[in-house]
Amino acid sequence: MSRARSAEPEVVPVYIDTSKANIARVYDAFLNGKDNYEVDREVLRRVQQVTPEAAQLAWDNRNFLIRATRFIASQTGVTQYLDCGSGLPTAENTHQVAQRISPDSRVVYIDNDPIVIAHGRALLEENELTHFVSADIFEPEQILGNEGVRQHLDFDEPIALFQLGTLHHYAGKRDPAELMSVYIDALPSGSYVALSHFFDPENEEHSPLARRMEDAFLHSSMGTGLFRTRPQIEAMFGGLEFVEPGLTRCADWWPDGPQLKPLDPVSHCIVGGVARKP
Ligand code: SAM
Repeated sequence: MSRARSAEPEVVPVYIDTSKANIARVYDAFLNGKDNYEVDREVLRRVQQVTPEAAQLAWDNRNFLIRATRFIASQTGVTQYLDCGSGLPTAENTHQVAQRISPDSRVVYIDNDPIVIAHGRALLEENELTHFVSADIFEPEQILGNEGVRQHLDFDEPIALFQLGTLHHYAGKRDPAELMSVYIDALPSGSYVALSHFFDPENEEHSPLARRMEDAFLHSSMGTGLFRTRPQIEAMFGGLEFVEPGLTRCADWWPDGPQLKPLDPVSHCIVGGVARKP
C-alpha cells in the first residue's frame, strides 16, 4: 500500500511565497486556522469589508463537506473517495468523517499547495487507507492516470469524487463542465460527485453581494474566486442524478437540525450538491 509514497521523496523541500496570498492558506484564515500569514489574512479582511460575515462562506462549505461525507459513508455503500483539493488539515477531514462511519473507507487526497503537501503528508495520511497525492486537479487526465490514484482506488468499484470549494478557483481555458466530464466519464456506475461552488444567485437581493465579494477576491493577491451562476454550476454535474434536495445553498443541504436563525446573506452565495452516476 505504501509504494506510491516511497516512489516520491520522503522530505519535500517546501518553498513558501509569503508575498502573495494563496488559496489553501486564505481558506485556513477564513476557518480561523493557524496555518496562514498576514498576506492571507489581508484577503479575509478585504472580503470582510464587503460583508463582516465573510467567514461564513468557508464554514458553510466545510460543513457541507462533512454532511455530504456522512451521507455517502452511511447511505450509499461507497467506500472510496477521491478528494480533489483537500485543503489544509482541519478539525474534521474527509477520511475521519468517512472512517468513523465506515472504517474500511479509502481516501485519496489531492492538492498542489506546498504547505498542504507538507502538512497533508504528515496529518492526512494517518493510516494505511488514507493517501495523499500531489498533482493538479484541473488536469483530470493526469489525475486519472496518476500512479498513486490508480494504486489506491479501484475504478471498477464506485467512487465518491469531491470537488469542494475548488472549481471557483479555476479560470483556465477549459470549460469547467468539460473538465468535470473527464472525471465523470471515468467513474463507474454507482459513483457519486459532491461539488460546492461560490454562487451568484442572479437576484436583486444577493447578486450585488456575490459580485462585490468576487471583486474583492479577484483584486486581492490571491486573485481567484469566481461566483458562477446556477446553469454554469449545474453543468459541472454532467447530467448526473441529483440526490435530494439537488443543487442548493450549502447551508440548506440536509442541515443537522432546524434552521431557526435567518441565513446570513453570504450563505445565499455558496451552493453545493451531491449527484449519482446511474
Ligand atoms: N476541499 C476542501 C474543503 O472544501 O474544505 C478545501 C477547499 S480549499 C478552498 C481549495 C483547495 O484546493 C486548496 O487547498 C488549494 O490548494 C487546492 N487547489 C487549488 N487549485 C488546485 C490545483 N490546481 N490542483 C490541486 N489543488 C488545488
